[in-house]
Amino acid sequence: MALSPSLIAALRGLRGRCPACGRGRLFAGYLKQAPACTACGAATGEIEAEDGPPWLTVLMLGPLLAALTFIAARHEAWPLWARLAGLGAFAILAVLILLPRIKGALIGVLWGMRPRS
Ligand SMILES: [Zn+2]
Repeated sequence: MALSPSLIAALRGLRGRCPACGRGRLFAGYLKQAPACTACGAATGEIEAEDGPPWLTVLMLGPLLAALTFIAARHEAWPLWARLAGLGAFAILAVLILLPRIKGALIGVLWGMRPRS
């Protein structure tokens, strides 16, 4: 079964790679897009994900964090400061890990959907 071009572009973006060729880097910094692919020259910097990546990150992490908050609230043997620090650290770490990957995948999807002349 062959993967659709949009799915391939999204998976390449998820790995932080150019959605067109899969070799060049998509980002010049943590979230700053490179203006073009260093391997194939595709103008991936023109694709604007806007508010999509943070929105998707919150949508994915929100239910998980809500569940973890309820679980932590039931464990009264653990000190409150440890529960709050643990939840806060997990939330920050999860966002830092997920956000660039989600942004890359969304850019890949948008790259796959762009109009071709
Ligand atoms: Zn490329």
